[in-house]
Amino acid sequence: MGLMLHASCDCGFIGSACAGSGRDEGSATLPVLCRHCRDVTSVWVDRSRLKCSRCGRKPELYEVNDPRAQVEALDEAQRYECPQCGQHRLRFEPMGLWD
Ligand SMILES: [Zn+2]
Ligand SMILES: [Zn+2]
Repeated sequence: MGLMLHASCDCGFIGSACAGSGRDEGSATLPVLCRHCRDVTSVWVDRSRLKCSRCGRKPELYEVNDPRAQVEALDEAQRYECPQCGQHRLRFEPMGLWD
């Protein structure tokens, strides 16, 4: 199960991603920043290397490996790098749960 995230920035960028744990030990879905697509997306992480599902390039992980820590980090003060303007003004807000 996991969390649906709504990403928004002061520059007008809007995106969405998921954060959650997988069925297997060590696997998870995590929000990432792809500099090539200039978008926020989420990738399935297991032991293989990270790959953007759209362009196949390596994206940047937004947070730590543990999705529970990720969820706890989603407070008001937390700002992340925006793929559109490049500044740390992006916010993630929980939209709901999936399982
Ligand atoms: Zn990409
Ligand atoms: Zn922005």
